[in-house]
Amino acid sequence: MLEVPFEGGCLCRAVRYRCDAPPFVEYTCHCLACQRITGSAFGTFAQVPAEALSLTVGAVTEQVREADSGNRLTTSFCGSCGSALFVGNAARPRIRTLFVGSLDRAGDADIRAHIWTKRRLPWIAFPPEHRVFEGTGDWRPDYASDPSRLESG
Ligand SMILES: [Zn+2]
Ligand SMILES: [Zn+2]
Repeated sequence: MLEVPFEGGCLCRAVRYRCDAPPFVEYTCHCLACQRITGSAFGTFAQVPAEALSLTVGAVTEQVREADSGNRLTTSFCGSCGSALFVGNAARPRIRTLFVGSLDRAGDADIRAHIWTKRRLPWIAFPPEHRVFEGTGDWRPDYASDPSRLESG
C-alpha cells in the first residue's frame, strides 16, 4: 500500500512530484495507446485526487491527444528525459492518473485490476482474484467515497 504522502519523478530527476492523498484505484491498461506511450507491454496507473498532486521540482511538458472515447487526454512528461509522469482527462478534471513506474516506491502500489485486456500481449496472465475488464474499467466501487469525482466539472 502506498503511504501518504508519496513521491515520484522522472528518470533524470528534472521533474519531481508529491501526492498527499491515497489512490482511489490502481490498475494496468493494455490498450494500444498505453503500449505506445510507455514503449512497453502495458501502462500501470494510480488515480489520485487532482488537488493532491503537486510538482516539487521542475516543470512538465504536455502532450494532448483524443482518446477513442472522444475525451481529451493530456499526458505530462519530462521534456528532458521523456519519462511519462501523469495523465489528465478533460472529462474528469478532479482526477490525475499517475504512471506507477514514476513512483519512488512503485512496489508499494496495490495493482488488482486490469483494463483493455482484449489488447493484452499474448504472454500476459492475470491473477484469478483480480478484476479483469476486456474494455474500459468500471471504477464506481473504487470511488464510492466520492462518486462525484467521476463526473465532469
Ligand atoms: Zn527527466
Ligand atoms: Zn490505456
